[in-house]
This record gives sequence, C-alpha cells and structure tokens, in this order.
Amino acid sequence: MKTIAVLGAGYAGLRTVKRLAHSNVNTRIVLVNKNPYHYESTQLHQVAAGTKEPADVSFDIKKSLPAGVEFILDEVVSIDEAKRVVTFKKHESLVYDYLVNALGFESETFGIKGAEENGWPLIDIDTALAAREHLEHTLASYRHSHDENDLHIAVCGAGFTSIEYLGELVYRMPELVKRYGLPADKIKIYCIEAAPKVLPMFDDKMVAWAVDYLKKRGVEFHTSTPITEVKAGSVVSNGLEFKANTIIWTTGVRGSHVIADSGYDQKRNRVVVKDDLSVEGHPEEFLIGDVSAVPDPSTGRFYPTTAQISIAQADTAAANLAALLEGRKTSKFDFKSVGTVCSLGPQAGIADIHMMGHWKLKGAIVGVVKKIVNDRSVLELAKVSNMLESN
Ligand SMILES: Cc1cc2nc3c(=O)[nH]c(=O)nc-3n(C[C@H](O)[C@H](O)[C@H](O)COP(=O)(O)OP(=O)(O)OC[C@H]3O[C@@H](n4cnc5c(N)ncnc54)[C@H](O)[C@@H]3O)c2cc1C
Repeated sequence: MKTIAVLGAGYAGLRTVKRLAHSNVNTRIVLVNKNPYHYESTQLHQVAAGTKEPADVSFDIKKSLPAGVEFILDEVVSIDEAKRVVTFKKHESLVYDYLVNALGFESETFGIKGAEENGWPLIDIDTALAAREHLEHTLASYRHSHDENDLHIAVCGAGFTSIEYLGELVYRMPELVKRYGLPADKIKIYCIEAAPKVLPMFDDKMVAWAVDYLKKRGVEFHTSTPITEVKAGSVVSNGLEFKANTIIWTTGVRGSHVIADSGYDQKRNRVVVKDDLSVEGHPEEFLIGDVSAVPDPSTGRFYPTTAQISIAQADTAAANLAALLEGRKTSKFDFKSVGTVCSLGPQAGIADIHMMGHWKLKGAIVGVVKKIVNDRSVLELAKVSNMLESN
C-alpha cells in the first residue's frame, strides 16, 4: 500500500487529511505534528491579549481524525525529496510515496537587530501565551517600579495581526487598569509601521475608520517609521526612540525553517509551486499553506498567505492526490477569495466581503461575521463531537 505523509496539522494539513479520508483512497495516511493539538492561528492575537484562553482556540488532533489515519507526534527536522524520506527529532524516519508539506509559518524579523531577542511574536499558542504573561506581569510591576515604561506597549507592524491584536488590547485595557490599579492616563500604546499606510488590503475609507476607532481608544500610530533596532525597553527608528517595556513583534511571517534546512529552492522559506500545487520536478509532492507561494494568474503577483487560501489549497491537493492514485490527470488550483475580515476586538471591525455581492462592512456587525467565520472553520476541521466536548 502507498504511503501519503502529511506534515503539519494546521488549516492546510488537517483539511487535507480529512478530504483524503473522505475520498476513500486506498492508502496509508500519516499525519505529523509537533503538538498533540491543532490551534486556530487566526485567533492567536486574542490569546495574546487575554480575551480568549488557549482551550478556546485549540482542540485535540487525535480525537478529530477520521478512522484509519495514523498520527505521529513529533517535530519534522528535514525532508529528503530525492529519497522521499522525512526525518524527525525523536521517531524513526518515514519513507513516503506522496508528500503534502503544510508546515506553516514562523515569525519574520527581516534581520532587524534585536527583534528576535526583545520582541514578543505571535506565532503559536506558546508564544501568544508568553506575550500575554509578559504584558500582564509588566503592567502589574508598575505599582512597585513606578517606571512609566511598564505602562507603554509598542506594537511593531500595522498589518492584519498587529491591528487585530490592538483591537483586542484596547477592548481589554479597562479591565487591566482596574485589576492592577493603573493610572489610565499614563498608558501609551504605539503602533509603529514602515509603510505609509496601515492594513494595505483595505480601501482608504475603511482604513480611516479602523484607525480612528483605535486612536479614540488610545493607540498612537507612527506610519512611515521603519524600525531599525529593537532594544530591551525600546523600539528605535533612525533618530526616534519609542520606550516601552512590552514590545509585540507582528511585522510579518515567513514559512517554516524546515524548507530552507531541506535545501528547497525558496525565498523566505516559501516555495513557488506549479499550477496544480506540486513542486517542480516532484509530481508526488504538494506544498500548501504558508510554506507555498502561489502566483495569482489575474495579477501575476503571489496570493497573500491566509487560512482561507490554505483550506482551498488543501481541497485541491487532496483531489490531486486521489487523481494520481487513480491514474488521472491533476487539476489546476483555482482560487476566489471570499473577502477579508479584520476584527477590532469582539465588538467591531471592518470587512470587505465578496459573497452574494460585494459588501463593505464596518462596526459591530463585523464582530458577528468574524465569529461565524471562526466557528465554521472549527466545525469543518474538527468533528462535531469534539467541538461539543470543548464547549
Ligand atoms: C494573529 C493572526 C490572525 C490571522 N487572521 C487571519 C484571518 O482572519 N483570516 C485568514 O485567512 N488568515 C489569517 N491569518 C493567517 C493564517 O493563520 C495562516 O495563513 C494559516 O494559519 C496558515 O495555515 P497553515 O496550515 O499553512 O499553517 P499553520 O496554521 O502555521 O499550521 C502549521 C502546523 O504545523 C505544525 N508544525 C510547524 N512546524 C513543524 C515541524 N517542524 N514539525 C511538526 N509540526 C510542525 C504547527 O504546530 C502547526 O500545527 C492570521 C494569522 C495570525 C498569526
């Protein structure tokens, strides 16, 4: 029997396994993940701000797997494409016939001095929780230290993750002020961004609404401000220095380091895939999710890496694997975005949706839309019984 190895149980990997199992292919399916749980990366900013608990955004992988799928709990170290072998930290190597590489994203520092050592990234449950513990510990310290920098928070970057984190943070701040007896007028929240515009994927009017919403709740925006160094306790941009004892690093992501370590032809740990999502020269291998770079035929640029496209890629990869096993031709990946939703805490946000028309939404309705999107994603990836258990 042929072996299909699926690496990573994020949106892309888990969805692939579910689709493969439902297509009744007569193969051995092996899923590999370094944690026993799947987490919703799209909700990490909420864990980091303390508006959600890790248990709210994660579920047990084994309990959600279709019957017959094997699970290896281990970290992938490298992939030998020529020999078709995956090596792990602890387990024996795995020889595969087909591979789906869905190892996901890591934090990108762009080589900025001190970013890795002094910034708190939001890339998985552990880092989101660590950022939250640091924030709360630092705010609580003010009562003894009287160091105003303990009340200063710098959020680096003004893309999706940064803005969604800021939305949750300003929502939670009144509770933190009360809990730790803080002087509200001394709290400073900086958002520091190299580009002239925040949230480049939205139109100017919607961005202005989101910026105004956050400014009214205490966020100071500094755009066209490229970060040159991150120190312990400050963010430096050429001549400027923003003092803050909590520095959140959300300037962007790159693919898993396993990509570069395995010798792929890559840029920022992403590999440009063919139109059926396979790797050049390796029809038995598919790269999907945040480790892949997929050209958008309508613009010639790469699609942004999102959970939405990861799930769509998984459907195509699973269908193409079934085709290969049955001796049929593979199909091209065809993607139409249903739009973008950016929450600003649980009760506000902006959204640009292409479904049953074109909808530009802002305000409280977006909080409701985002909840529906998140619940649907969990429902599609986990078994219903698993969802009920965690409620
Ligand atoms: C805060 C935040 C908010 C976001 N909001 C949205 C949104 O609203 N909408 C949207 O579409 N996208 C959003 N995104 C982007 C989206 O989360 C990613 O594009 C998506 O998670 C990519 O899915 P993936 O399956 O490729 O990778 P991941 O979700 O990163 O999953 C990779 C999996 O592989 C595992 N893994 C990694 N390395 C190894 C290894 N060496 N060995 C074994 N296992 C390994 C990880 O533990 C993980 O389970 C957001 C991202 C962030 C950070």
